[in-house]
Amino acid sequence: MIKVGVFGAKGRMGSEVCRVVEAAEDLELVGGIGPGQDRSALEGADVIVDFTQPDAVMDNLAWAIDHDIDTVVGTSGFTAEKYDALRAQLADHPTTGCLVAPNFGIGAVLMMHFAEQAARFFESVEIIELHHAHKADAPSGTAVATAEKIAAARSAAGLPAVPDATTQEMAGARGATVDGIHVHSVRLPGLVAHQQVMLGSLGETLTIKHDSFDRASFMAGVLAGVRSIGSRPGLTVGIEGLLGLQ
Ligand code: NAP
Repeated sequence: MIKVGVFGAKGRMGSEVCRVVEAAEDLELVGGIGPGQDRSALEGADVIVDFTQPDAVMDNLAWAIDHDIDTVVGTSGFTAEKYDALRAQLADHPTTGCLVAPNFGIGAVLMMHFAEQAARFFESVEIIELHHAHKADAPSGTAVATAEKIAAARSAAGLPAVPDATTQEMAGARGATVDGIHVHSVRLPGLVAHQQVMLGSLGETLTIKHDSFDRASFMAGVLAGVRSIGSRPGLTVGIEGLLGLQ
């Protein structure tokens, strides 16, 4: 049995994590913590899952690493500085692992992977991400990560910048530009989380499309992380390695 604790257990993602951990025969839920609650309730956990807030997560992780407890983290807002801080803390705890995944959705990760693979074969590419009307940030973190991967793949293949004949533009009409890749954000009630990567060359297009309809779609990735982090000391970023995609 793997003993699992949850930071942010009352949140939308955290409560779903508690539900699937309780339902799994090889996992035991040892407790869940909300803001201001005593973390010592999670001592004895093998793994703690964190779905909290960008300004809370580093404190939670410092506590867990100090207690040599592995962590699986979905909270957003990680920067290069935060990753460096985690690596530095983990260096003093060589058997402890921390997995931070900007996206636990297996379909979403595959969509990014396929887009990265296809990128070098097409003259041009644009990304359209579509989300529910309550999303605060635009473009989505997944769209930014996809654009960065595509740009790196194009650059490694020696492709020039994507062509753009636009000479007159109403502000925003061509979307945001991430590493030279245009990203368009749609916000509509009725949507959940969706993304299309459109690649084009003379005479053909390829569209890679992913739709997430429910936060249950993240749970297979979270559980894969919980089950494998015990054998992955140090910092792991993304679930690509767990899925054999790297
Ligand atoms: P949410 O519903 O607001 O849940 C966050 C929970 O964390 C709330 O219950 C909050 O309590 C609690 N919390 C805040 N500070 C805490 C602390 N110091 N210790 C313990 N709990 C604390 O948000 P959500 O939709 O679940 O999303 C959580 C995070 O996951 C966000 O950063 C989101 O962007 C990210 N996310 C990631 C993925 C992925 O695949 N990686 C997928 C979906 C969401 P209060 O409400 O009382 O403040």
